[in-house]
Order: sequence, then C-alpha cells, then structure tokens
Amino acid sequence: MIPMNDFKSEPEALKSLEQDALKRVMASGWYILGPEVQAFEHSWAQYCGVHEAVGVGNGMDAIEIGLRACGIGNGDEVITTAMTAFATVMAILRAGASPVLADIDPATGLLGLDSVKRCLSNRTKAVLLVHLYGHISRMEDWVDFCEANKIVLLEDCAQAHLATWQGRPAGSFGRFGAYSFYPTKNLGAKGDGGALVTNCPSVAEKARSLRNYGQTIRYHHPMEGLNSRLDELQAALLSVRLNWLKDWTSRRREIARMYYKGILHPNIRLLQPPMEPENHVYHLFVILTEERDRLALYLKEEGVDCLSHYPVPIHYQEPCRGLKRDPQGLQYVEVHAMQCLSIPCHPQLSNADVNRVIKVINAFR
Ligand SMILES: *Cc1c(COP(=O)(O)O)cnc(C)c1O
Repeated sequence: MIPMNDFKSEPEALKSLEQDALKRVMASGWYILGPEVQAFEHSWAQYCGVHEAVGVGNGMDAIEIGLRACGIGNGDEVITTAMTAFATVMAILRAGASPVLADIDPATGLLGLDSVKRCLSNRTKAVLLVHLYGHISRMEDWVDFCEANKIVLLEDCAQAHLATWQGRPAGSFGRFGAYSFYPTKNLGAKGDGGALVTNCPSVAEKARSLRNYGQTIRYHHPMEGLNSRLDELQAALLSVRLNWLKDWTSRRREIARMYYKGILHPNIRLLQPPMEPENHVYHLFVILTEERDRLALYLKEEGVDCLSHYPVPIHYQEPCRGLKRDPQGLQYVEVHAMQCLSIPCHPQLSNADVNRVIKVINAFR
C-alpha cells in the first residue's frame, strides 16, 4: 500500500539525531517548559517571521489560548470556514466565543470573502482564516477587509508550515497564527504539540500565562488558564526535524507538480494551483470527483491509500448544528465535502510511487 504518511522510512541521519536529542533531554532532569522549549520557540518565531512563538500542548489549544489572549470570548462572533478540521471551531467554542460559519471558494476550498461579508454583524470580532491543505492566498485582501471593518485577523496555520505570501510566512499577518505539530503535520512531533506565533508582545505574554494555569509569577494566578505546555522531549525533536522542513516542503511541491502534470481524467477535478509555488506547502493534495466514494474504494483496492478532508462539514457535526452561518447557506462546502479525496503526498514518496498513483487514478473507470 502506498501510505498517506510514512515516518518509518525517514532518513537514518534524522533518526539518529532524534535519538541524541531524546537522550540529552532524558539526562537533563528537566522535562516541561525548559531550555529546549525556549530554543525551539526562538527558531520557530524566526521561521515564521514574527517576534515571538509560544509553545503549547497542541494546535487546538494554540487557537483557544490565542483567542483568549486577544480578549475574544463571551458574546463575540468569530467568522471561520465550515470546511476545516473540527478543532478550528471547537477552539472558538472553548474560548467562549460564537463561531459563525462561512462558505468556501469552490476553486481552492479556502474561505470565501463574499460569504464572510454576508456573515458580518455588529458582534463580529474576528475572522479566523484557515490555510487549508497548506495554501495561503490573497492575504492583502484579508488584511484590508479586516482593517476596513475594524475586526481582528487570525490565522489557523496548522497545515501551512513554511507557506509564504509575497515572502511573508503564514502566521505573520494575523494578530496571532496557530500552529499544530501533530505527528502528521508538515512539521510534526512524536506526540502532541503546538505553538502560537505573534508580533504582539501583550498577546505573547498573556499566552505564556494562559498555557500555565494563568500563572504570572510562580504560584500567582490572576486569570483562569489551561494546562497546555509543550514538553522538552517534543521541543528537542521539533528542533531536529526543523532542519529537514525546507527539503520536505520542496519534495511535497515536486510531488504536487507531478500530480498537476500527470492526473488527467475527465471526471476528476484538481483544486486551483497557487499563484506562486511558495503559497502552497501541500500538507494535503486534494482531488475532487462526483464518484468520490467509488474512487476511494478503487484506490485502496489498487494499493493506494486515501482519506477525505473533510467528509462532514462543520455545520453537520452534532455540537455545531445550531451555529450561525452565511444566510445564503454553505452550498460549496457541502459539495466539497462530498467530492474531496486526499491522495498520498508526503516527502518519503518516490517518483515511482507518485507515478503509480497517477497511473492508477487515470485508469479509474
Ligand atoms: C490539525 C489541525 C488543528 C488542530 O491541531 P491539534 O494539534 O490536532 O490540536 C487545527 N486546525 C487545523 C486546520 C488542523 O489541520
């Protein structure tokens, strides 16, 4: 089976450096919020082109902590997409704010500006963009829109490590950017991990308290916080893996190029490619067809693994059925959910693997 991810076949040089890092932390006697976390936060902030990164427990907490650090909560509306990981919306709910679901641009799967305009109300506090599948697009439009409407721009960058728009990295446009280091993400740990990145010193400072029970000085808790800390083992592993991230990203782009060139099927549509190669890091490569379920079965029979991101739109999830949404509905999200299929796109794929995937897809009848 050509798998969706393959960590076991990562380079031996990487594995050996990971072992060294593990041994170093084990021997250090310090396991939560220490020098490894600080070092990784420093590097990650640099990669993201921001002043500060705050390591947290996971990507969902990064969003919740970010919202709370920005003072967004009870009574505030946050507009976001109905085509995203459940965690995006769950984090808004956890922060006490009200998600408002907008439709996508069917060409890219990304949040649609016209739909967001229809979702605006006098309670709107923020737009939470999701750089879905690793694609960052038209950031000046979002920055201008948020400025004009006096609302805050926020970024869910959980799928967009190293994606840039006109040279600026994902996470550097919004009040904060939220990253996940879940193992399958483009930069993944060996467990849960996340980070909030920001240029705003007060947001960073408040996030540092919130991740640690709301503590400011030791044993002083002026606010209710979470327990959501990045640990030293994960941070040490992430610092090692960070040295491979650029190469991995190039390889993902190469694979995507092969798919764009090779997949030619009358009943299969590809998403609109990015304006510039740097705008997409291909966390996922998604194809669309009306015969999605039959294609998925066929691919698996032929030894090609696949998944759908995401087969159930947010507004069909039990806790979200009553959420406010675009008054014109979420039609494009619903069609996308029925048609989308993610095919293998990870750095360990060989050209032979990629060509096999293309051949199998093109032979679908
Ligand atoms: C993975 C992901 C999250 C959540 O990250 P976790 O680390 O799993 O909590 C949030 N948003 C998006 C778009 C994701 O892909």
